[in-house]
Amino acid sequence: MRNRIFLKALVALIAVIATSMLALDITIRQTWESSLQSDIERLLVQNAQSFALRVENDHQHSLQQMALEEERITQTRATIIAHDGSVLADSEADPRTMENHASRPEVAAVLRGKVGSSTRLSHTVGVEFFYVAVASGDKIVRLAYPLANVKSDLARIRTALLHGTAWALLLALVLAIVIAEIISRRLRRIVQFAEQIAQGNLSARIAETSGDEIAQVASALDRTARRLEENFNDIQESRSELEALLNSMTDGVIAVSPDLKVRWANHAIGSIIHQHVRIGAPVVELLRHPDFLATLTNALKSKQRETAIATSLSGRRSFSVTAEPLPDGGVVSVLHDISEVERVEKTRRDFIANVSHELRTPLTSIRGYTETLLESDMAINESGREFLQVIRRNAERMGRLTEDLLVLARVESGEEKLDLRSHPVRQLLTEAASSMQENARSSGVELTVEHVGDWSVLADGYAVQQVFGNLISNAIRYAESGKKIIIGAHERPDGIEFFVRDFGPGIASEHLPRIFERFYRVDKARSRESGGTGLGLAIVKHIVLNHGGAVRVESVVGHGSTFFFLLPKA
Ligand code: ADP
Repeated sequence: MRNRIFLKALVALIAVIATSMLALDITIRQTWESSLQSDIERLLVQNAQSFALRVENDHQHSLQQMALEEERITQTRATIIAHDGSVLADSEADPRTMENHASRPEVAAVLRGKVGSSTRLSHTVGVEFFYVAVASGDKIVRLAYPLANVKSDLARIRTALLHGTAWALLLALVLAIVIAEIISRRLRRIVQFAEQIAQGNLSARIAETSGDEIAQVASALDRTARRLEENFNDIQESRSELEALLNSMTDGVIAVSPDLKVRWANHAIGSIIHQHVRIGAPVVELLRHPDFLATLTNALKSKQRETAIATSLSGRRSFSVTAEPLPDGGVVSVLHDISEVERVEKTRRDFIANVSHELRTPLTSIRGYTETLLESDMAINESGREFLQVIRRNAERMGRLTEDLLVLARVESGEEKLDLRSHPVRQLLTEAASSMQENARSSGVELTVEHVGDWSVLADGYAVQQVFGNLISNAIRYAESGKKIIIGAHERPDGIEFFVRDFGPGIASEHLPRIFERFYRVDKARSRESGGTGLGLAIVKHIVLNHGGAVRVESVVGHGSTFFFLLPKA
């Protein structure tokens, strides 16, 4: 990491420096060369012009002398040429051996009336020269500067430039290394910071003080880390609050993963299972209770809240178990101890059953003596007979009440085992109709059975007749005016639903939710008058619930009521 950033920055910096050095070197060298060349040209032209002036006006010296002198003074080869191109004098060669120069570019240019110049190899001396020719009266003078001189000058300049460039490059290289190291060190700090955050150290900071872009990135990362730390602390705080809250509960709370391993449990769980809760252990090792485990797996499968009652879960204690699926696939379960509620409930039921039982004998005795008195030949006046009849009526009512209370206590406790068998639905309906037919007829009500399919239910036949008895006698009693009662059944996905339908006055909707409660009556006076105890529907409900079924009622005031009860299919 370190080397990569460092090397990249270094290579980039060196590339930039080298390119700019090269460009600078080329530009300087070109400018220098062209300025040197134009300086030499200007000097040569000036020298040639003053030489031309001398050749034109000096009549004392020979042309050859003047050429030689010119070479000595100006260090250039001097040539004097006639207009026809023949060489008259030359400072370096014998003019007689020299060929005609009329075709030489610089001479030709002068003949055309210009100042001639040319760079080329001399045929005469075999060296590369820079030639300049000007007119000098009837002659042409030409000066030639050996290019070897220029080239050696240029070579010197180039070497000097190269040295300069090399030094500058070396210096720039050192500078580039230092800059690259500074940048990479700062980036390395950011990387180290990111690694610390990734490892969970949210208190790590970079704290860059300079104001450049790297510092801006660093301070943005610092701000992010600070916010993360704050949020994390908030979450930790709420988590410990929640933990304290759950630990203060008397209900046991346990969270398990999708593979049924313990994730978390509150203190109450420890006291329920009488052992230390090991996080990560399979839940079955802590609580090997079939109902509890089934509730957990059901909630995991259905992804819905599941509830159940788990008896003898911890010693002889009973718990209501609620399992709620968690969004990540696990499940959280709450175990609420209902042993005390069950104990109180049982005491209440036992008390009612005992009282009812105890009342039976005195009531039978009261009824017996009243009847004996009424049927005896004893002289009892009219009002005395009336009193005795009132006593008999109330004793009968109390008798019914104690009977119903005993039945209710029995069905509510669920202690009485049901004799579950497969019963054809049609047969159950006909039996119910025939046993109640007489009552219906005497009240002027027509009782009919609706045609049903060939289904069977799993039920206790005697209990089902008790249910029908209560519902049909209610229909006769409260819906006599409808003149018609229909009983029947429908098939439903979860079982067979029986119904008892009347066409009487119906029940107002506000009473419907409470109608199955014990002692709940819509019209108290009417109920009492007709011999009702207010317990019939409560008995119905408990018998059906004991079968694993359900009850409901539909009613429209003025049109009648339909009572439904669902029983499982055989
Ligand atoms: P009760 O002994 O008073 O009949 P139930 O529990 O059987 O007690 O019924 C509760 C109340 O529901 C009754 O008092 C009555 O007001 C009402 N009720 C029951 N069945 C019917 C019905 N078919 N039509 C109208 N009201 C009814």
